[in-house]
Amino acid sequence: VKPPPSRIRRLDDWAAACLGLPRPLSRDGLDAARLDRLNRLIARLRRASPFHRARGDLPERPFASLAEIASLGFTTPADLVRADPPLLAVSQGSVDRVVTLPTSGTSGAPKRIAFSAADRAATVDFFTAGMGLFTEAGDRVAFLFPAERPGGVGNGLGEAVRRLAAEPLAIPIGPVDEMVARLRHERPTVLAGPPVAILAAARRAGHDGGERLAVRAVLVSSDRAGPAMKRAIATALGAEVHDHWGMTETGFGGAVDCACHDGLHLREPDLLVEIVDPVSGRPLPTGEVGEIVVTTLAHEAMPLLRYRTGDRGRLMPGGCACGSVLARLDPAIERFDEAIALVGGTVISPAALDERLFGFDAVGDVGLEAVGDPADRLIVRIRTVAGAGDADLAARLRAAVIEDSAVAAAIARGGLMVELGFVETPPSLAKRRVVRTGAARSGGSG
Ligand SMILES: [Zn+2]
Repeated sequence: VKPPPSRIRRLDDWAAACLGLPRPLSRDGLDAARLDRLNRLIARLRRASPFHRARGDLPERPFASLAEIASLGFTTPADLVRADPPLLAVSQGSVDRVVTLPTSGTSGAPKRIAFSAADRAATVDFFTAGMGLFTEAGDRVAFLFPAERPGGVGNGLGEAVRRLAAEPLAIPIGPVDEMVARLRHERPTVLAGPPVAILAAARRAGHDGGERLAVRAVLVSSDRAGPAMKRAIATALGAEVHDHWGMTETGFGGAVDCACHDGLHLREPDLLVEIVDPVSGRPLPTGEVGEIVVTTLAHEAMPLLRYRTGDRGRLMPGGCACGSVLARLDPAIERFDEAIALVGGTVISPAALDERLFGFDAVGDVGLEAVGDPADRLIVRIRTVAGAGDADLAARLRAAVIEDSAVAAAIARGGLMVELGFVETPPSLAKRRVVRTGAARSGGSG
């Protein structure tokens, strides 16, 4: 059933309101307003940003088009870690909240991203529009969040849900049976959280003989979710699955898919997204895959100009059937640093293995460990939903892994060893990371 036009247009109406533009939102009007935001941002950073003052890289004359942004240099996660000179563009007194993010780099120093009260309010506005695509008044909206992070319904999500006259609920991610028990007790109609936690709970609830979960809509966020994973969640719950892209650096919310599920509509009033060649840094045309680079047009406390996200993705050409003028990101987004180089010269992406493995009903989570660099051992740890003792299942899962062309080539050319095992406890049900360990069987050159 096609949702009513008022809901389809909710994101465009939010964008128009955000920029003081008339409805219906037009592409030309949107771009003119964004160019104005960009020029005002650059003028402000020239005055107020110690980082950009030290760099001296910002032009005095305003840009005549958004494309001219390509003349500016990039900012990187390393700039945020170093923070010297700081990227903060307001006084310390205007900072409402600082989020500290661990980095995978060797220094171990965290990134710190500052937000003002206005930044938080802008995020709540976007969440309200985004959650409003699938949340109705009276819904009970459960957020699954990592138990080690207190206040998981922070970041304005709870407030956005309350504005939609729905009720936010917080459910910590933990042992699957406990999550299922909590979900049966709280009876949410909408579920939001990391895809692997939602899938594990959904599949367990479908297998344990208990009451089924009456969830109508799901928002997967904060970790990769490929088509097989989203299909599996939709099937296990009988729910419509929406996908989300965003990061702390973008002010959390970044893009969400509408009822057409044909790309994630970008939060364009606040974000200018470019796709660049990851090696040359040159902008790529719409439709080509490269690194996602983000400029936070409306961020007050710590605006980022041309920030290299390390995410690999593309903008989708053409328009969405919903009629929105907001540009769309292809949901197939991966981290560049998650790719695993294998012996024999091939590279495997964890997302490709997800696609092969999450189609199996029994699979609740997949963990990868790469031994050596390039890896000559690939360890695939699978947590099953019901019964791991099935020898035939192990053989079929193993076959699915070694049928991947990159894995097959690494076996043939480099003697890659693939080990597949079942585990009781996954490393995490929140953000999944490839584990990389050092020397392999040869005892290693390091
Ligand atoms: Zn759409």
